[in-house]
Amino acid sequence: MIVPPGSTIGIIGGGQLGRMMALAAARLGYRCHIFDPHEAPCAAEVSAEFTRGAFDDEAALARFADACDVVTYEFENVPVGPIAALGDKLRPGTRSLEIAQDRAVEKRFLEGAGARVAAWREVGSVEQLDAAVAALGVPLVLKSRRLGYDGKGQAWVRDPAEARSAWDSIGNAPAVAEAGVAFEAEFSVLIARTHDGQTRAFPPPRNVHSDGILCHSTVPAGQPIEAMAETAIATAATLADALDHVGMFTVEFFACADGALVNEIAPRVHNSGHWTIEGAVTSQFEQHVRAICGLALGSADLVADGAVMDNLIGGDVDAWAAILAAPDASLHLYHKGEARPGRKMGHVTRLK
Ligand code: AMP
Repeated sequence: MIVPPGSTIGIIGGGQLGRMMALAAARLGYRCHIFDPHEAPCAAEVSAEFTRGAFDDEAALARFADACDVVTYEFENVPVGPIAALGDKLRPGTRSLEIAQDRAVEKRFLEGAGARVAAWREVGSVEQLDAAVAALGVPLVLKSRRLGYDGKGQAWVRDPAEARSAWDSIGNAPAVAEAGVAFEAEFSVLIARTHDGQTRAFPPPRNVHSDGILCHSTVPAGQPIEAMAETAIATAATLADALDHVGMFTVEFFACADGALVNEIAPRVHNSGHWTIEGAVTSQFEQHVRAICGLALGSADLVADGAVMDNLIGGDVDAWAAILAAPDASLHLYHKGEARPGRKMGHVTRLK
């Protein structure tokens, strides 16, 4: 299915990823239509149309989809049931969503596809958490199976006595316990896949997190990441193939002394790819639009020696005027309203 410029792209979710996707789509002559439950999502103000509706409102989603030529999503916590009927109009499909929205299902999928992950256990009670602590040792990190992002729904257990409070802090929700990984660095593979199985990956960025939230992404990533990049890109392509994924697909890795471990997947564009807007021939957002519309993929090559992306989290955004005054900084503000702590308000990219 080719969706030519001039068509309408539906985007489920109206956050900053949808906003940057809509801006990239507009440059290629597409109209975007946002579906989101909030009153004024930041993607809607740069898009041609906006439908306010709940993600589980099947009738509203059906009317929205009827008004679009192709439908995509910018985050993974969308219930699968109401959008399953969209069939090939939904790109990526529901399989990518189903896998990415449950950490236990995701880990089984990763292992089944031959990817290496940290040792883990499914946890449904404090007794099972105690058993996981005994089997995996400490430190370990407890992550709720569903609805986690940016380190939310996570608790570290650094001493077996902390198990009960960790379990309570994630709300006694079904979870996975993961062995703490003593990684040397973190990186991600951002890869696009077309409906006929072609793939193209960006140079993998080195990512630095604080409290589970991405702070900085840098390309080139340096060692030991660059030595692992080829294998990691092959792993990401295998995973995208296994899901018959169409669009951008992101795999987050831990770079360890004995090679790379997969942390998690995201069936979408990703914060660690924001540097591609200025730093690559084609941005991750345009690449996603190209892939879901059945167009040729663009070059993923760097346009400079490198790029650094810094997130503006919470009050960081107050420095916008000083950032703008620097000649080498490309500033992106998402217009999300209140700068609450931990909230991603914008980012800045500098080329090297
Ligand atoms: P996640 O939401 O699973 O991507 O986790 C957010 C961040 O927490 C990761 O990027 C790591 O910095 C850290 N983290 C998550 N899981 C582990 C782990 N098993 N071992 C060490 N650090 C972790």
